[in-house]
Amino acid sequence: MNIRALVKPNVRRLSAYEAKEIPCRVKLDANESPYGFSFFKNIPTNRYPDPEAKELKTTLAKQLKLKSKNILVGNGSDELIYYLVTTFGGAVLYPTPTFSMYGIISKALGEKTIEIPLDPSFDLNMKKILDAIKKHKPKLLFLSSPNNPTGNCFSTERILMLIEKSKGIVVVDEAYQPFSSERGFIPFLKDYKNLLIMRTLSKIGLAALRVGFLIGDEEVINEVNKVRLPFNLNSISQALAVRALKDKKQMRSAISSIVSERERLSKELAEIKGVMAYPSEANFILFKVKNPEKVYAGLLKKGVLIRNMKGVINGCLRVTVGSKKENDIFLRALREVL
Ligand code: PMP
Repeated sequence: MNIRALVKPNVRRLSAYEAKEIPCRVKLDANESPYGFSFFKNIPTNRYPDPEAKELKTTLAKQLKLKSKNILVGNGSDELIYYLVTTFGGAVLYPTPTFSMYGIISKALGEKTIEIPLDPSFDLNMKKILDAIKKHKPKLLFLSSPNNPTGNCFSTERILMLIEKSKGIVVVDEAYQPFSSERGFIPFLKDYKNLLIMRTLSKIGLAALRVGFLIGDEEVINEVNKVRLPFNLNSISQALAVRALKDKKQMRSAISSIVSERERLSKELAEIKGVMAYPSEANFILFKVKNPEKVYAGLLKKGVLIRNMKGVINGCLRVTVGSKKENDIFLRALREVL
């Protein structure tokens, strides 16, 4: 696959901003202040961040058994979506309902969007997507799997078929992969140059840091890197993300608590009359009630804030899996409101 041909001509001609690190005794090249603040022992606040986020990429690469050159870090995956649309342009295809930023960013950048409704079991509607691929030749396909807000993974065979049939880049957004029972798409990277995987640390306890990352073929990563702002990830986020990733025990135990609470919450919801909860592979559960507006408002009156999916999937509400105590408060409030 000719990746360069897929890149927008204006980006194709660009070279990435070069930020060489030259060892020195006195650093007077970047108009920084010599005076920093000592909030953090090992983070010189007066210096610009490492533009390549080397330590963070090495840490991620080691844990995922990849190479640093296959990783690009962003200020959250939101920023990476922005970079992808900037690099490749439209048309941009995604199923609906899904994560809203694919559409918002594509439209903000003036690109054409193609929205294909999911089938009744919330899986990819292959006939419609394949027809749209033929007709519009999208440069980018965004597939959130597990999908936000439906909570399910799309079928692996269907995603693989789209990677094979599409002449564009297929981005599998695995923001919720840590909570899923499926293996995800990293094992398929070696087979497909047009496959990119997007992950984030936001759902696993580090939303405040804004760290997302793209994984893919070196050539694709290098093209996207051309539009990346040089210091897109601040020094504090880089340093804390490395520390958190190295604390595998805490990370794993938080994920497994969330997964077991999700299972408990699903079971409890199934027993409540008037509630129809959809299965979830993520850290949230989508459920249907007769009177979503009233239920949403009633819960909020009791101090419990969930997401009203009005206009996205009518009749549905989405609850994030919290701690055992939070989930119990939610369940009691829901029973009372109903
Ligand atoms: N992808 C999906 C599917 C999401 O649901 C979200 C967050 N709601 C994101 C990406 C954004 O993640 P980040 O915090 O890394 O920007």
